[in-house]
Amino acid sequence: MSSGNADDASATASPAESADPEFVFELRTCRWAERNWPPGADDARPVIVSRQLGTKRRRWDTIVVEVDPDGLRQRANFGRRRLDSDLLDVVPHAPPEWTYYRDALPDPGYPWRYVREAIHRADDRGILDVRKRNNRIEIRRKWAYPDWVERIVAVENKPDLDASAARDLRPQLEYDVALSLADEVWVATRATGEAVEPALLENVPVEAGILTLDPSSRTANVEWYPRSLDVDAPGTLIEERGENTKYGGTAGRFEYADPEWKADKRLQIAERAYEKGWRAYSETMRPDCRHFQLRREGRTLLPYCAAKECHQTSSECSGSCPEFSPEPPQWRSGDWPIEGGPGKGIRKLLEDRRERNRPR
Ligand code: SF4
Repeated sequence: MSSGNADDASATASPAESADPEFVFELRTCRWAERNWPPGADDARPVIVSRQLGTKRRRWDTIVVEVDPDGLRQRANFGRRRLDSDLLDVVPHAPPEWTYYRDALPDPGYPWRYVREAIHRADDRGILDVRKRNNRIEIRRKWAYPDWVERIVAVENKPDLDASAARDLRPQLEYDVALSLADEVWVATRATGEAVEPALLENVPVEAGILTLDPSSRTANVEWYPRSLDVDAPGTLIEERGENTKYGGTAGRFEYADPEWKADKRLQIAERAYEKGWRAYSETMRPDCRHFQLRREGRTLLPYCAAKECHQTSSECSGSCPEFSPEPPQWRSGDWPIEGGPGKGIRKLLEDRRERNRPR
């Protein structure tokens, strides 16, 4: 089944797109998902798409957070910034009436002074009512924190999913399936147009879905549907894999992840996705370099390096790039064409797009 968006299909394919780095493929996947999720369905669902998020041990390329529209509207009361793990231990538990904070909140499992710090941060952000009575801190909620996250989907991007890429990817996907932190896991790869997509022939776990994206038509095909993972059940954290050698096997190491830990992590990931979106790539690149450009591809703006004449990766576009050339100071003064110079203008443009594309 093919799905895509006609607006996106109107752009001319870049001649270099078959050689584009994984990073650019990832941005295309994000843009496609934002407009067409879920794959293979006729009606798009409201989603927030982000990239490079996960846990300390596992970072996913693309994250799709399926949201409840009413819940998302209520989430907006708390501002554009994420609630970090400390704030999530406070704000969602705040009672409707003034209450001593230790009576209102569950035992955090760490010193209460950190909770007090989080309370004061929430107060400074204007998302919690806080007062002192008889030398005690009391809290009251401003708004009920909504249940806005429906599902979290992880997508790994491998534009060229050959046997060696599949070999590298397999342990990561097995880790995801065993832990079941995301509701679904997908692999997105570049469509080849062959009768049987080569990705189907590679050694990818059957629980993972396979999506082929065609960069020239901006459409995607579902080659294999994923299995839904049980996010409410305990998960298995694969700490170390056992090895088979000619001298015998070594044991693997595992830990259990309880459902509460998983629920906390999922909400933290969703909050980070809410704040970051996927267009924040300019924050880790150098749009203040005079060679940095944004190239339009349909409705997607992709970073382009005029010096290297290609879409650069985020890792090469840094201050240590040999071609890096800071924009001249006079560009930043005056009002060229946006106050602060092109670098600042590019960041602002991407931020505006992020706001415009948030589900309402
Ligand atoms: S020259 Fe280097 S720093 Fe400048 S835009 Fe190109 S890749 Fe980025």
